[in-house]
Amino acid sequence: MKIAVLPGDGIGPEIVAQAVKVLNALNIGIEMKEAAIGGAGYESAGDPLPAETLKLAKESDAVLLGAVGDWKYDTLPREMRPERGLLRIRKELNLFANLRPALLYPELASASTLKPEVVAGLDIMIVRELTGDIYFGQPRGISTLPNGEREGVNTMRYSESEIRRIGHVAFNIAMKRNKKVCSVDKANVLETTELWRQVMIEISKEYPEVELSHMYVDNAAMQLIRAPKQFDVMVTGNIFGDILSDEASMLTGSIGMLPSASLDANNKGMYEPSHGSAPDIANQDIANPLATILSAAMMLRYSFNDEENATRIESAVKKALAQGYRTADIYTDGTRKVRCSYMGDAVVAAL
Ligand code: NAD
Repeated sequence: MKIAVLPGDGIGPEIVAQAVKVLNALNIGIEMKEAAIGGAGYESAGDPLPAETLKLAKESDAVLLGAVGDWKYDTLPREMRPERGLLRIRKELNLFANLRPALLYPELASASTLKPEVVAGLDIMIVRELTGDIYFGQPRGISTLPNGEREGVNTMRYSESEIRRIGHVAFNIAMKRNKKVCSVDKANVLETTELWRQVMIEISKEYPEVELSHMYVDNAAMQLIRAPKQFDVMVTGNIFGDILSDEASMLTGSIGMLPSASLDANNKGMYEPSHGSAPDIANQDIANPLATILSAAMMLRYSFNDEENATRIESAVKKALAQGYRTADIYTDGTRKVRCSYMGDAVVAAL
């Protein structure tokens, strides 16, 4: 197993170091090589995605990423900004399926802004299409009409094959979970998503064990707050998924806990925490490394089909939380506040 390790900027190097520690502790022959991305790429090679980094990522079986970005790069030309490195690597690796679990650990129930009985036991997987939809459709742009008024245009577009491949990802994941897929669309108003619904129904025939339901996106946004535990796997397009996955992540109350995976057609993937580079707390050894450690667990599950070791990591995280260890962002009275590196050690000890 060859992994490209891209720590990136801000807290990236601190949190990735903990995930690397955990992967090494498993002792399962993972080969890891590090390269620069984001601001670190710009500093070392004048490019937020240096050619060497892209080459390493392409040659590897999976990519483990920290985060990119720092306010000090905000004045650079757009192409040189750290975030461009991230967008480019996603595109270069054809990562069309974004998986974002929203899982609430019982020990952290009080961190959610929702009542504990609404969120306790929450375990949702949001599958978002990442390379199509209104974010990429043509034509697009801002132009001036003959009457001098300006007009903005974006195009919502999905081909059948794009819908089909993300549908299969969702159904396959549901087969490993509670066998329920809720497809989110706006088929009453948007033809693009009317096609989306038709294709999902067609695909579902190949997965007779999985129960498929449909929900309009406005209702889905409401149901996620009203009764989130009704969902198992949710599958949706790029723009709806962008919004719903952020909404779902905050049901758990703590951004430092949420991993993510972005996969290509062969399950090669890039794994990263859902949060950013948190420059406000960088270099202080106080960031929460658990989202990154849990991203490493997702990597074992989805890219290496190693359910056993993925579960081992997740159980070790649960154990460290049950033992009362908390980084500052999830600390509450009666628990033990620890540093980033200490939390990494606690997970290794729990393994
Ligand atoms: P952010 O997610 O970095 O931080 C938001 C808040 O959450 C901050 O107060 C931060 O301290 C806290 N936080 C985030 N992760 C944490 C962790 N692991 N442990 C403890 N606290 C944590 O978002 P932002 O402040 O809006 O953006 C900062 C930089 O990150 C920007 O340059 C932005 O472009 C970049 N960014 C990168 C990614 C990515 O690499 N995928 C995603 C979002 C933002």
